[in-house]
Amino acid sequence: MRQLYLLLALLFSVFFTFGQQQKTLIKNVNLWDGTSKKLQEGMDLLITDNLITEIAKNIVEAKADLIIDGNGKIMIPGLIDAHVHLASTMSSSKIRNDMDWMYTAMRAAKSAENFLMLGFTTVRDLGGPSFGIKKAVDEDLYPGPRIYPSGAYISQTSGHGDGRNPNEPSTHWSGGPMHPSDAMGWSFVVDGVSEVLKASRENLRKGATQLKVMAGGGIDSKFDPIHSIQFTVAEMEAAVQAAADWDTYVAVHIYNAKGAIRALNAGVKCLDHGHLINEEVIKLLKEKDAWLVPQTFWTTAPPDFWAPGLGTIPPELDLKIKPVLAGTVNAMNLAKKYAVNIGFGSDAYGNLGFEKLALTEFTARTQWFTPIEILKQATSENAKLLGLSGQTNPYREGKLGVIEVGSYADLLIYQGNPLKNLDVIVKPKENLKLIMKDGKLFKNELSFSTNSNN
Ligand SMILES: [Zn+2]
Repeated sequence: MRQLYLLLALLFSVFFTFGQQQKTLIKNVNLWDGTSKKLQEGMDLLITDNLITEIAKNIVEAKADLIIDGNGKIMIPGLIDAHVHLASTMSSSKIRNDMDWMYTAMRAAKSAENFLMLGFTTVRDLGGPSFGIKKAVDEDLYPGPRIYPSGAYISQTSGHGDGRNPNEPSTHWSGGPMHPSDAMGWSFVVDGVSEVLKASRENLRKGATQLKVMAGGGIDSKFDPIHSIQFTVAEMEAAVQAAADWDTYVAVHIYNAKGAIRALNAGVKCLDHGHLINEEVIKLLKEKDAWLVPQTFWTTAPPDFWAPGLGTIPPELDLKIKPVLAGTVNAMNLAKKYAVNIGFGSDAYGNLGFEKLALTEFTARTQWFTPIEILKQATSENAKLLGLSGQTNPYREGKLGVIEVGSYADLLIYQGNPLKNLDVIVKPKENLKLIMKDGKLFKNELSFSTNSNN
């Protein structure tokens, strides 16, 4: 396997060195394009550098430098997770108080690789320092998905992003420096319109493709009850304005209905979580053509997911988790009933290895949706959500989330049919035979040959 990887790496480096176009032909796949109800059988794809340039039956092999035999297996677009925190690979208090920042960064890079190897070729990072990881991945220094970074959380004092230790004074009163972890890009704790604007613009300056604002109480935060509404209308509108001026949008963390209504009325385009929403929220979301990104696998997640390293859930944490989880079914029923825009986002974080929980979101959603509907949410629908980033979108050379001529060559090939059974996706080690991102191979267990005539 390692030799194969080295050979392919060598092959690519030769072509890139001489500035020639790399052409890869994938033969004989049963293709799901990210939107259709059916497979197209026995198709070939020609990939030129990082884009798909031809899809047809029997493309002549002489056109390609590398030919991969798809062997009748199923190809789908690379998966997109619209809610990750790549740098959150330990408990927040460990990251904040104990760990060397470079160690945290290297774990984040590992998490990016883990997501890619599960089949996620694109992720939207919804908070935490991810600009550097994005740069390293885009420069091919390290394997990982395309990253849409939000930068630091924008939170009010005592909000979901106020991660200060209990005895840590506000820098506003103490005049002291930011905590080193916040200075690294974890959180802006801000109050008032001008501070919200400053934090929003700081994130945009660093390359945020959307802003992440905390609109209500959270689980993994100590000083904000779940029912709390965070940021005033004017503050929320300020973040929306700053984002809109950069041609992008605000996504909010929110469970409760009142905070969701305030956010939507302020112009927020994406509610992340939304487990405690009601009919009024879902109607407003529909009217505003906004998005909902819920996490349904949480209801079956292991205790370690909620309390990394502790093994059991402390009672004060459980008090916050239980009501949120209890709302999940109602929120999903409403989302289904009103056929709103639903993104696929796992929020699977907390330890290295937890990334694989993201795949359980596929099977958890089968309570409400068919496999094809869920696969669309994780590919073409999520691509629409990411597209709300307008001219800040860093990946505009091709389309994401679909397989068509002109789209990015972000491709997966499976043994087994995920359109019929999503368990196929949940076991990538066994079933995922090929991962291509941006025209480059990161996994290939299919037979291939090279064409020396070119
Ligand atoms: Zn999150």
